[in-house]
Amino acid sequence: MAGILQESAAFLDAVAEHAEIDEETLLRLKHPHAALEFHIPVRMNDGRIEFYKAYRVHHNNMRGPCKGGIRYHPKVDMREVNQLAFWMTMKCAVVSIPFGGAKGGICVDPKSLNRVELERLSRGYIKQCADFIGPDTDIPAPDIYTNEMIMGWMMDEYSKIVRRRCPEVITGKPVALGGSLGRNDATARGGYYGLKKLAAERQWRPEGKRVAIQGFGNVGQHIARLLFEDGYRIVAISDSQGGIYRADGFDVPSLVHVKQHSRALSAVYCQGSVCEQVDAEQITNQELLALDVDILIPAALGGQITLDNCDQVSAPLILELANGPIDLLADQKLYEHGIEVIPDILANAGGVTVSYFEWVQNRSGYYWPEAEVHEKLKRIMDTAFASVALIVQSKQIAWRQAAYVQALNVMGEAVRALGTRAYFSEPQA
Ligand code: NAD
Repeated sequence: MAGILQESAAFLDAVAEHAEIDEETLLRLKHPHAALEFHIPVRMNDGRIEFYKAYRVHHNNMRGPCKGGIRYHPKVDMREVNQLAFWMTMKCAVVSIPFGGAKGGICVDPKSLNRVELERLSRGYIKQCADFIGPDTDIPAPDIYTNEMIMGWMMDEYSKIVRRRCPEVITGKPVALGGSLGRNDATARGGYYGLKKLAAERQWRPEGKRVAIQGFGNVGQHIARLLFEDGYRIVAISDSQGGIYRADGFDVPSLVHVKQHSRALSAVYCQGSVCEQVDAEQITNQELLALDVDILIPAALGGQITLDNCDQVSAPLILELANGPIDLLADQKLYEHGIEVIPDILANAGGVTVSYFEWVQNRSGYYWPEAEVHEKLKRIMDTAFASVALIVQSKQIAWRQAAYVQALNVMGEAVRALGTRAYFSEPQA
């Protein structure tokens, strides 16, 4: 199977200079454990059968079972899933939770399916990879275009296969089926806690600070709400159809209301775009990225800021809630332009952190109140942000490099604990 992307391998080599690791740590990270590629047959409502290509990758399980979301998107391929699984390993290490990295995906436009077809497809994914996942080996979760209900179907299917109720095999489930309180907004909330910490240290006042958010799904809606409640001015949002801009800021609860109510009765996904239904200046996704704002939050797809458009970005701070929205060459340019980027493996780690809480609660059968979930999440995010900030200052490197150094140090300890060449080649007494 292929390794991680060449750019990521070169990036790891470069940041390793700042980390306290044995070279075996790098070797292990460059070689993903296992990958599964399969087709899911789905009987469509008109009687025909369709086959959908699907993937699941285990990147590394040295620090615990593999963990990572399942993405439904027409552009999903093995290369992308492999890379996302690598980022999961690094993310779990940054926040020091005992999981490794995994990811999965189905190559499908989920909006083209009706509810029953979508359920069959989701159950089909689990049927095909049931031997590859499990509560002690690999625990999936939601990602782009997968949601709570889909996680519920998948948990139910896995439970049928193993002939026992097994909520701990999947996280991000509905609370009624063993999900955790506080999982729904955990990804956004983790980034929000990080931003709050930065604001306190730098003595910003949120009032009047202008924020643009790309993507208005789970992560985008929740970060918009949390920041709006604190007094930030959300001046632009977008979804797959385009964006909207209003200089004096949007009333976020009514935007969320419009988005939620744009779901047709027969559909699972929102129909049309929030942007078509709100009276505001229409902008493109590219224009949103170039807006003169204080904080830019990519919360949609990867690969949005590249060498082609990075010169147009003017926000002094970017909070990467999406996975991989900025490519590494563009990232370097942004750094040279003095733009601070809080990287995905730190900024969006709140999601996997509360997924970890969900797994712990499922295994113990004891469920925590929402306030406890928030408090535990805040503690983990504050600690991770503080450790990475310390590396930024002491090594004078960018946040992304520093987050990788932190993750490498944590991975390095696990590698050393099993013994490296230095240990095994020592003369024995
Ligand atoms: P989602 O499916 O709920 O929402 C995705 C949003 O992106 C939708 O609003 C969609 O319209 C928009 N979008 C799709 N194509 C777009 C385009 N070309 N331009 C602009 N917007 C576009 O997904 P989500 O769970 O909110 O995930 C968003 C990002 O956050 C992804 O990169 C995902 O990997 C990352 N992430 C999610 C979680 C989680 O817990 N859900 C955790 C960590 C990271």
